[in-house]
Amino acid sequence: MNEIKNINNGEKFAHVSVGNLNGFEGKQFLKDATGATSCEISFGTLPSGAAVPFFHSHKANEENYIILSGKGKFQIDGEAFDIAEGSVIRVSTGCDRNLKCTSTEPMTYICIQAKEGNLGNYTGTDAEITERESLL
Ligand code: ZN
Repeated sequence: MNEIKNINNGEKFAHVSVGNLNGFEGKQFLKDATGATSCEISFGTLPSGAAVPFFHSHKANEENYIILSGKGKFQIDGEAFDIAEGSVIRVSTGCDRNLKCTSTEPMTYICIQAKEGNLGNYTGTDAEITERESLL
């Protein structure tokens, strides 16, 4: 498992890193490290031929899996389908899910867990353009 490095924090942000995803192994949850209040983000990697060792279901949170590298299969209840780098899979509450790496390279993914039905305003209806001197 990769160690979470605390890079820098401010009053309005937290910046952490799990390091180079190329050598990332295992599963790492980030909510406690960043202090996130709206979702739980985790990085996960499955080696070739491996699946998560259990199916699981969520009561209140949907999950969004973003496949960053590798190929595999995803199963939701009695349905399985192919996934690959670039795939994004949203999974509702109240169903069993699992994923397996079928590529020779490891499959690395991000899972974002957030309360189902909780997203109201977003992007254009929540964000506003502000004036600020750029330090970039
Ligand atoms: Zn889950």
